Amino acid sequence: MVVYLMRNNILTKKLAKISGTIQAKEQDGCVWLTGKVSTWDESVRAGMLAAGNLKKRATVVNNIEVTDEPLTPPCLPAFSDNALEGEKPDVLVIGGGVTGCAVARELSRYDIKILLVEKEHDVALHASSRNDGMVHVGIDLHKGTKKYHYNMRGNAMYGEVCHELGVAFERPGQYLCFASRLLKPVLYLSLAYWKYMGISGVRVLGKKELMRLERNLAKDLSCALYFPSGGVVCPYNLTIAYAENAVQNGARVMLDTAVTGMSVDGGTITKVRTNRGAIYPRVVINAAGVFAEDIAGMAKDRFYSIHPRKGANAILDSKYSGFVASTNISKLGKLPAKTHSKGGGIVRTVHGNLLIGPDAHETNEREDFATEAASIRTSFEKFRATSAVLHESQIITYFTGVRAPTYEEDFVVCKGKRTRNLVHAAGIQSPGLTAAPAIAVDVARFAVEILEGGKSNSANENTPRPLAESPVTIRKNENFNPLRVPIPHLAKLEIDDRQKLIAQNPDYGVIVCRCEEVSRGEILDSLRRPLPCDTIDGVKRRVRPGMGRCQGGFCGPLVLQLIAREKGITPDAVCKSGAGSEVLFGPTKGGAV
Ligand SMILES: Cc1cc2nc3c(=O)[nH]c(=O)nc-3n(C[C@H](O)[C@H](O)[C@H](O)COP(=O)(O)OP(=O)(O)OC[C@H]3O[C@@H](n4cnc5c(N)ncnc54)[C@H](O)[C@@H]3O)c2cc1C
Repeated sequence: MVVYLMRNNILTKKLAKISGTIQAKEQDGCVWLTGKVSTWDESVRAGMLAAGNLKKRATVVNNIEVTDEPLTPPCLPAFSDNALEGEKPDVLVIGGGVTGCAVARELSRYDIKILLVEKEHDVALHASSRNDGMVHVGIDLHKGTKKYHYNMRGNAMYGEVCHELGVAFERPGQYLCFASRLLKPVLYLSLAYWKYMGISGVRVLGKKELMRLERNLAKDLSCALYFPSGGVVCPYNLTIAYAENAVQNGARVMLDTAVTGMSVDGGTITKVRTNRGAIYPRVVINAAGVFAEDIAGMAKDRFYSIHPRKGANAILDSKYSGFVASTNISKLGKLPAKTHSKGGGIVRTVHGNLLIGPDAHETNEREDFATEAASIRTSFEKFRATSAVLHESQIITYFTGVRAPTYEEDFVVCKGKRTRNLVHAAGIQSPGLTAAPAIAVDVARFAVEILEGGKSNSANENTPRPLAESPVTIRKNENFNPLRVPIPHLAKLEIDDRQKLIAQNPDYGVIVCRCEEVSRGEILDSLRRPLPCDTIDGVKRRVRPGMGRCQGGFCGPLVLQLIAREKGITPDAVCKSGAGSEVLFGPTKGGAV
């Protein structure tokens, strides 16, 4: 049943088909949905229907109560203290994903006080470590959207950013394969479209060339489009590198720190409450991923809704990496259709593993990273049509991430609409990793404009800017150093260079992880970086012990001992990923741990 508050008959008719009570009202450029339904899927369906009937630039805010499957609240750190009480940063960044960390690094080019808070025990624990690592071409995007704009700009920035940050990045290109030979002339016609879309160097490949370049493809594939701008990066290495370079340039990163509330006075955030005390920032950046809508609500600037969407990937043993030469291969029966998912594919990571997936499911559980067997099975069945050599026995592990789309399926990158000292970097679903370098440049610029008392995005453009009594100029950070020195990865070095490093530091000569060939020296390096790291997963994501076939079965206890020794704690205090994830329960056979 629907209460007709809108004059939009089409929408109201469509909403009437959903069981429950739904009201739709247009106000302040938003369609507000209220009412009651029993399942999360019904609420999402209503949001999508509203989005499908929006006027240009309008957005959907979904306030429908879901009785049986409500949206889960955030998991918060289990402790509180006063470590941040009274802090007055110029800019507070909320969220240590790739967006927040890239923003903090961009901001560190300026002579300002930056504080990034992340509720987890490390950066990149949500979507920013649970993705495919593809630097997208932008095949499925539409001109005029923020996704398109930031994807294209971000993709072009990757070479330089990764060079500066010492992060591995490759650009082997991407294939879109087709089974029907009849499509080949259409693919030639499509070249004009790709040019119009600003995607350069696209080529049509016939069967012979395709099979020469990718010898493990299914034999029924007859032609393909090749996009040379497709790249691949390690998403958590990049996020960590951004955070480390920000810290190196003066930013402060506080982990285990959750924003729990705000005071907003006359359209200005005056106080931000956390589990570690109250903070008084001049500008707040909302880069909170699936929780960005909650932060927008706290800041009294909620004009979009996030509906979390889960996706799972299987990781294959690196010994099968030779199966695929490009970044990503996927097969389409027909030309790309309008879709909210990139459809997944086979991705070869910079570390030489293949990823198979991801799929896409709406979920009310924003931090449910459990992987369903059915997801992996479906992806395998789907992509076996692209390469028949794939087999589930090649899987070493899997992971699940949760995307953060808005109902408009576009990014929200702008200054606050009603709240003056706020910048949103929200709705950053895929291709958010690709877009992050470009989003960060704009978000940092918005923050600096607000600090300087500059242009407003708020409803009333004449509203005086509150932050600077008179316009001020924010100076550049004269000591900004864009270069970050990475931890050497000995397994990738030439033998002479390896020997030199071992001669300087014998710890590099002791292999701890046999699968990934990681030395004791690299593990100790990971524990001594500008961004604190003291967990087994933290070390694993920085230098890869435990990422191989045995998944840490051999090296796990050795890594644990190294952490305990380096941090001066007992082995039973070492955690897998953060407080409450201690690995050891107590001594065996009466011995001391
Ligand atoms: C399965 C999957 C595959 C993908 N593949 C690709 C791909 O190949 N290429 C691509 O470009 N993109 C891809 N993406 C999208 C990409 O991963 C995201 O767009 C990107 O990681 C978003 O980064 P973020 O920093 O905005 O959000 P997140 O990484 O989610 O970070 C948000 C952070 O905010 C923190 N936070 C939330 N609330 C609070 C609070 N109250 N206080 C303090 N901290 C808080 C969270 O703990 C979290 O760490 C994929 C996503 C998924 C799920």
